[in-house]
Amino acid sequence: MRKTIIAAALVALSSTAMAQSSNFDYNVDRFADIQVLRYQVPGFDELSLNQKKLVYYLTEAALQGRDILFDQNGKYNLYVRKVLEEIYTRYQGDRNSQDFKGLELYLKQVWFGNGIYHHYGMDKFVPQFSINFFVDEYNKLPLTALPINSCDRCTEEGKCDKAARLRKTLEKVIFDPTFMPKKVNQADGEDLILTSATNLYEGVTQKEVEDFYNAMKNPNDTTPISYGLNCKVVKENGKVVEKPYKVGGLYSQAIVNIVYWLQKAVKVAETSAQRDYINKLIEFYETGSLLTFDEYSIMWAEDTKSQVDFINGFIESYGDPLGMTGSWESIVNFRNNAASHRTSLISGNAQWFEDHSPVDPRFRKEKVTGVSAKVITAAILAGDSYPSTPIGINLPNSNWIRAAHGSKSVTLENITDAYDEVANGSGLNEEFAYSQTEIDLMKKYLTLADKLHTDLHECLGHASGQLLPGVDPDALKAYGATLEEGRADLFALYYLADPKLVELGIFDSPDAYKSEYYKYIMNGLLTQLYRIEPGKNIEESHMRNRKFISEWCLQKGKKDKVIELVKRKGKTYVKINNYEKLRGLFAELLAEVQRIKSEGDFEAGRKLVETYGVKVDPKLHKEVLARYNSLDIAPYKGFVNPVYKPVYDASGNITDIKVTYGENYVDQMLRYSRDYSPLTK
Ligand code: ZN
Repeated sequence: MRKTIIAAALVALSSTAMAQSSNFDYNVDRFADIQVLRYQVPGFDELSLNQKKLVYYLTEAALQGRDILFDQNGKYNLYVRKVLEEIYTRYQGDRNSQDFKGLELYLKQVWFGNGIYHHYGMDKFVPQFSINFFVDEYNKLPLTALPINSCDRCTEEGKCDKAARLRKTLEKVIFDPTFMPKKVNQADGEDLILTSATNLYEGVTQKEVEDFYNAMKNPNDTTPISYGLNCKVVKENGKVVEKPYKVGGLYSQAIVNIVYWLQKAVKVAETSAQRDYINKLIEFYETGSLLTFDEYSIMWAEDTKSQVDFINGFIESYGDPLGMTGSWESIVNFRNNAASHRTSLISGNAQWFEDHSPVDPRFRKEKVTGVSAKVITAAILAGDSYPSTPIGINLPNSNWIRAAHGSKSVTLENITDAYDEVANGSGLNEEFAYSQTEIDLMKKYLTLADKLHTDLHECLGHASGQLLPGVDPDALKAYGATLEEGRADLFALYYLADPKLVELGIFDSPDAYKSEYYKYIMNGLLTQLYRIEPGKNIEESHMRNRKFISEWCLQKGKKDKVIELVKRKGKTYVKINNYEKLRGLFAELLAEVQRIKSEGDFEAGRKLVETYGVKVDPKLHKEVLARYNSLDIAPYKGFVNPVYKPVYDASGNITDIKVTYGENYVDQMLRYSRDYSPLTK
């Protein structure tokens, strides 16, 4: 539950010196609602040979998990990807025909979504090519190109029963909008498992799964494992059982490959602590034991010395309607030592922030443990962090580990810088901001204020507060992720305006925070709606959290006119009349959200989110979409990775690792499918 996704394409123009080359071409591809970018890895060449090898081995381990995520996101995803890629690469006809273009678009979307559902909206992609075209091209494929095992009846002419059955299935999967329509459904009151297509459960109802885990949980356990984190839950002979992802279990071949590269990484680890936790991670992958995973998480959180670091595993549970199973992901990175000064100032004062927070003292942490924060340079993005990627991460997720052993909070600065560069000149602020005053405010301060918001959100927000004894950490169920993100945002918003930040020398002006306040409310109430299709409500947790915070402040501040929605020539603008009072509203809401979390008050949490965070005013929505369309900005962005190539000497030793950036989107995806597909036949 701990990642920050960029709020919108709304990042101010940066005047700060970029550590990156300025004539770098960031734009890679543009399709549907997506813009694909590339990022630089400044500082890689300055790493030692040993560190470069470590990064390289870890990037290989990262890429080996791609198929796992595809399969977790939907049971037919790997089949769809494989078949469409075969058609795409073998196609002999007119590659400019409408059908072929439609297939290409759909395939690009499937790659981006790691499956047939939108990575953010969760809805199934709508194909822009005909079913007849699909059937014709499918039938032309040789049997060896299909993801099926040959059977006795197979002939060279392709009259295989299995091939025909697979085709029928894929027709339904791709072309029938009513068949498994949604990846993760969070609609209040429905069976969230039966109505979600995600492949984390099969043949079980929500109630059966909840009963299954409730029977397993001991309310007096102060160090509970992360139940269900690495399992699919199915029914076998009428009984609900877990199927763990591990060597010899589900996804075995992919996990074996991940372990192979981790074993190489062990040999070049920077510190003994790092060597030990990589070995522990290997043990986890081999046993599937969540106790081992907790041991690993503790060792990982406590190693703050190594410069090279990584995430690799089943981490975030946004892809699970019940918020339990982790989607596979990996990010390899190294610390940006110069930029880490900012975050170390914040984490160094963590206790001060905790002690002065506006929440009930009973819900505060008496002693904030080891919140370490750093600015990092991402070297590879994989699994659930690719191509769409977070800009900030705080792990581990386990509440008791965070309390007892601390957590690591990171800001991905080279990713943020890439966003900044492309937002330059998009015209968004000019279209949506109330007046030149707000535009100037954002121009002047927003780059830093945005980074700081991420730092505070990750490093202090998520790490703050505590549950009352005996409160189930999963008590808020489907609303847990939204409320947790809201809590971290509110903590960050509240402190952005604190004189402490000027005192620490982080902000040089007492007005700097206003840029983020303005952007946050404008985004929450207006601009983020461009990511929602007409007629739809808000589903995604981060969007819900931004909406409920902004809407709540608008409503509660009405009598004091703290925030107004002003109409001018048929266009709606956010006008903030009193920034100090807005800070007061953030404080009040933070106290309430913290209470909800600390007490596990499901009903209050549900009401808050459903009242303020879900529904969209259709008229306003239409207006925002129209204004956006005039700007031609892609609502979502993602990245291709750089390519790492080892250089060998005559006796086969690695003497260097070279990084290049030239690969385009389609080539990278096809290469990954070719070279990193342990689960695809
Ligand atoms: Zn977060």
